[in-house]
Amino acid sequence: MEKKKRNLILVITFLLAGGFLATSLISFFVAQTSLRDQMSEDTLPLTSDNIYSEIQRDLLRPIFISSLMAQDTFLRDWALDGEKDEQQAIRYLTSIQKRYQTVTSYFVSEKTRRYFHPKGVLKTVREDDAIDNWYFRVRNMKDDYEINLDHDTADPGKLTVFINYRVYDFMGNFIGATGVGLAVEAVQALVNTYEKRYGRTILFLDREGQVTLHGESYRGPKNIRARPGMETIATQILTSTGGNFTYTKGGNTVFVNSRTVPEFKWLLLVEQDGSEVEARLIKTLFLNILVAIAITALVLFVANLTVGGYQRRLEEMASKDKLTGALNRQVFDGILDRAMKAIERDKGNLSMAMLDIDHFKRINDTYGHLAGDIILRGVVDVIRRTVRESDVICRWGGEEFLLLFVNCGADQAQALAEKIRGEVEKHSFPLREGRVTVTVSLGVSVFILGESEKEFVSRVDHALIEAKRAGRNRSHLAV
Ligand code: GH3
Ligand code: MG
Ligand code: MG
Repeated sequence: MEKKKRNLILVITFLLAGGFLATSLISFFVAQTSLRDQMSEDTLPLTSDNIYSEIQRDLLRPIFISSLMAQDTFLRDWALDGEKDEQQAIRYLTSIQKRYQTVTSYFVSEKTRRYFHPKGVLKTVREDDAIDNWYFRVRNMKDDYEINLDHDTADPGKLTVFINYRVYDFMGNFIGATGVGLAVEAVQALVNTYEKRYGRTILFLDREGQVTLHGESYRGPKNIRARPGMETIATQILTSTGGNFTYTKGGNTVFVNSRTVPEFKWLLLVEQDGSEVEARLIKTLFLNILVAIAITALVLFVANLTVGGYQRRLEEMASKDKLTGALNRQVFDGILDRAMKAIERDKGNLSMAMLDIDHFKRINDTYGHLAGDIILRGVVDVIRRTVRESDVICRWGGEEFLLLFVNCGADQAQALAEKIRGEVEKHSFPLREGRVTVTVSLGVSVFILGESEKEFVSRVDHALIEAKRAGRNRSHLAV
């Protein structure tokens, strides 16, 4: 029975703990997968799109201004007229810079190679000077303009977009290059916002992996090939036109989204460390497991109580006589056996009495069986009140009871038997027809070392027969 109970508790534990653990783990992995997917498919690409569209918005204005300058008849007439009054060009460039709030504005003449700027004629561009490379690039290019993003030499923290426009005379011949430089403030602000608010890192790279633009918080190396963790996927990123990547840094997964910025032949990288999200998921998982443990413990506690209660009731039902509440024969056998063994071991006394109600048939015949039952119960109550609590009462048969008196010698046992007999005789049992009295006869015997249970009971039984034979309502001590 105990083993079965333990097995049941074990099965419940296994089912609950297993079930809870499985659902907790499944929901953890599902949440993890969906968060990872969301990061790669939604969050990072969206940031990338936003930044890209800001770049395009930032580009439109300088392109528009530069195109106006390249088409301006004043500038072209002035150049074709031999660039006579330098101040005229300088005034023109100054007014452009003022009106459009540009970082710089310029015109380089093909004929004289002079570099005009609001501050004056800055220099003459030379093919062998690396700084002037841009002019000769523009001079030879097929497109009308190029976009060049660079850090302003006057303010390196500020990113400037230069639009270099080709200028033609009225016959379509190349006569110089003009344009403006405008701060890319919106992009820079957006990059900083994403970095600060969402913990994302935003990098612009050229095709060699050189970091060309980054947020204020970026502390990594100039080239992503040297970036801890990223070096393993740097080539993959740089050779693709865009996509999703992951790498591990300090044991955490970092999600990367890349896209090309064709205007600059750059790559835009948006990355986010997944550790914060994962830490939240793991916290939830532990919380779930804690709740599961608490529920399992509660269910086990309740199950234990319930099973324990049923078990006690079953044991009681199996061990006791339903009518009188006295022990049944099966249980009594065990008790008697243990008591006899204890006496064999420790010596001492063990006595037993067999009690039978006198002329009980008459009671049944006169008042009916139900009345007989009431008297049976009543007699057991009287016995119970008379003996010690440690003494054992067993319903041996119909209206016969075996009483076991532990630590009782012959005299004490017979005295006790007499006492019971007297108490029953004195008692009147309430029936519908009125109060009825009965008498009982008892056979008493003391356990003799070495005899069997059967022999012991048989001697008590014979003592009872003697008591009956002698006239009933008496006790007889076996010798
Ligand atoms: P004696 O003095 O010789 O013992 O006479 P008696 O009539 O009591 O004879 P015996 O002990 O042989 O009879 C037992 C009777 O008890 C027979 C049976 O009908 C009745 N009896 C046995 N069990 C029950 C029971 O559970 N309820 C009732 N009402 N009667 C029972
Ligand atoms: Mg009887
Ligand atoms: Mg009998």
